Amino acid sequence: MNPIAENLKKLLSEIPPQVKLVAVSKFKTNEQVLEAYDAGQRAFGENIVQELVKKHEALPKDIEWHLIGHLQTNKVKYIAPFVSMIHSVDSIKLLEEINKRAAQHNRTIDCLLQIHIAKEETKFGLSFEEAESILHLPELKNFQNIRISGLMGMATNIEDGRWKMEDGKNLVRNEFHSLKNFFNVQCAMCNVQFLSMGMSSDYKIAIEEGSNMIRVGSVIFGERI
Ligand SMILES: *Cc1c(COP(=O)(O)O)cnc(C)c1O
Repeated sequence: MNPIAENLKKLLSEIPPQVKLVAVSKFKTNEQVLEAYDAGQRAFGENIVQELVKKHEALPKDIEWHLIGHLQTNKVKYIAPFVSMIHSVDSIKLLEEINKRAAQHNRTIDCLLQIHIAKEETKFGLSFEEAESILHLPELKNFQNIRISGLMGMATNIEDGRWKMEDGKNLVRNEFHSLKNFFNVQCAMCNVQFLSMGMSSDYKIAIEEGSNMIRVGSVIFGERI
């Protein structure tokens, strides 16, 4: 077996069956994606629109593509024809544009609201208050071509040397825990209930805290250089 297939098999054997795996293929080649595809993986995530479009064009059409990185309104049109889920929605303006472009292609696009739960200032995302106000907007009902199907969050990166191991892990656990609590309260009315949290360094903690969708790259494809 090739290493990617082996890594994938091992990862899938470690996660509960109700947890969906999005294999993060950013900066990886089409050949590497195909190795995971041939091993049975169908859901892949990219963080840059241009990369996502290129890979979609080159790779098998039954791949389910997820956009996991920040999305600018003017780029929605490039992915609207095929993207399956957008994990990084952080404004009503963006939702409006996704709805408009999805409608032009007679599609419904699954959207997750990205919530800022980490300590880092630089990460995108909504506060709990902002997310709550979006979820309660009356005009959401008019958006026929999107489904708000859950939430996404990224915990603090504790591998930058600033954190003692135990403190860092507790911080990550608390961040995931607070997102799960918010999800339980707010997403009773979401159509499909995805809670996208957990990456290579923290997916185990995320699953313990109630994640049902993990976005994992390096554990499958190796470190990005
Ligand atoms: C890169 C990335 C991941 C995966 O990171 P790994 O550490 O390689 O598992 C998950 N989510 C987002 C939003 C990313 O940008």
